[in-house]
Amino acid sequence: MDIQCISSGSKGNAYRITDGHSTLLLDCGVSFKKIQVACNFNTQFDGCLITHEHQDHCKGAKELLRRGIDVYATEGTLSAMNINGLVIHTEHTYDIGTFEVIAFDIEHDATEPVGFLIYSTATNEKLLYLTDTCYCRYTFSDLNYIMIECNHDKEMLIDNVLNKNIYPDLAKRILKSHMSLDTCIEFLKANNLSKVKEIYLIHLSNENSNANTFKTEIQKVTGKLVRVF
Ligand SMILES: [Zn+2]
Ligand SMILES: [Zn+2]
Repeated sequence: MDIQCISSGSKGNAYRITDGHSTLLLDCGVSFKKIQVACNFNTQFDGCLITHEHQDHCKGAKELLRRGIDVYATEGTLSAMNINGLVIHTEHTYDIGTFEVIAFDIEHDATEPVGFLIYSTATNEKLLYLTDTCYCRYTFSDLNYIMIECNHDKEMLIDNVLNKNIYPDLAKRILKSHMSLDTCIEFLKANNLSKVKEIYLIHLSNENSNANTFKTEIQKVTGKLVRVF
């Protein structure tokens, strides 16, 4: 599977995945123009999966629909976005091209947020897309690729509050709705990673993270190839 980052973090999240037969967008939190440029104007998407209605995940959704690209999200997310996309229910399998997609619920301050488990019938590979959640109540088997939020380091966050770089209320929101480095490590340890080829760390906070440290820590714990988007 080929995984490309178009944008990651609070400025906007969008990723392109392809198995050589079908191509999906995971979230579209940037303008369609930005997606076009990042994909060299190769925008033949079989669909776009949206995790939740926050702008950094769905900014480009209306333009995708206007261009005839299917947008998939839960009923709650679609109504919060006020668009007519295709409804997905958690724990059902949806065939999109050569991909089989299952959504599962996550813990975030949005209407009906989800993560996605995506299986390619073309390459027999399984990818987990997990972002904007303070933890994950599920474990998964036979994963080959993991795209996971590694938003903040709790100590950096506390230091930033003490140094008045960020407001306490914002810090509280981050702790309740985004995944810390510690939780990311716990989650990875709880899953069988024997078939994992690559781990992609996504949605890092600008103020409360250190990409190099995060990469080293996750690599040390998992022994896997880790990339930071
Ligand atoms: Zn969010
Ligand atoms: Zn977000």
